[in-house]
Amino acid sequence: MKKMQQTIKEEVFARGQALHSGKTVEMRLLPQPVNTGIRFSRSDLPDKPVVEAKPENVFDTVKSMSLGNSKWHIQTIEHLMAALHGLGVDNLLVEVNGEELPLGDGSAWFFTELILKAGLVSQEAPRRIIKITKPIWVEDRKEPRSYLLALPGEGLRVSYCFTSDHQATGDQFCQYVITPETFQQHLARARTIAFENELAFLREQGLALGGSIEEAVVVGETGYLNELRYPNEIVRHKVLDILGDLYLLGPVEGQIIGVRSGHKMDYELTLKIKRAMEGGNYSGD
Ligand SMILES: [Zn+2]
Repeated sequence: MKKMQQTIKEEVFARGQALHSGKTVEMRLLPQPVNTGIRFSRSDLPDKPVVEAKPENVFDTVKSMSLGNSKWHIQTIEHLMAALHGLGVDNLLVEVNGEELPLGDGSAWFFTELILKAGLVSQEAPRRIIKITKPIWVEDRKEPRSYLLALPGEGLRVSYCFTSDHQATGDQFCQYVITPETFQQHLARARTIAFENELAFLREQGLALGGSIEEAVVVGETGYLNELRYPNEIVRHKVLDILGDLYLLGPVEGQIIGVRSGHKMDYELTLKIKRAMEGGNYSGD
């Protein structure tokens, strides 16, 4: 049986602080018709411009994923996108009255709860799944080298290898077959990593004003500065970020393996997969 597209049952609203600007922003999620995909709109700008969540509309990948152009953008979309990928939401309009989404609790849980509160509804068209049909990868040869690979496979499996000399974190590895259940149970609550010295630096630069010690796994010189939600929370969050970034392609089927990769490589991989699809090697299903 073919899986059908989904949107949310009803509009939902949330308010929260943005990570980089520290401003309070308001966000609305609106149900949308079939085949419209995920779109973002800036409700604070004249004419409420809209951008589709697609690889060609990525504006920046430093620290977070942002969509837009030189005139306007929306940043830190990846945790909402991860929730949409994890829960299987195909069509949605996201309105926000600023240039950044609310940070929530630093994981995808804020968005996951909101979507579950709205409820999901099945629509009258099959999902357009991007099936990986051959190995596609990107790498960064700068030492230590990083990689991100996409391989054919049933369903969606994401693996990640995080490496660090830091005594608190050590190396971490995890892999998950992504379903709405595994996503909610094992990934949605994993928060991003922040190093104590980095936080001070970001604040000096006027960035990360909204981030407090509760919205990240904060790593100090000798250990974690707050309580973990999972023993390997850092690597789980990396899987979450990959899920969110890959959703620029729509729902993906295959195996994804990341080694020390980040948003920039996620974005490069989406472009490469998209190019391969346009070359006729891919069929949406
Ligand atoms: Zn993240």
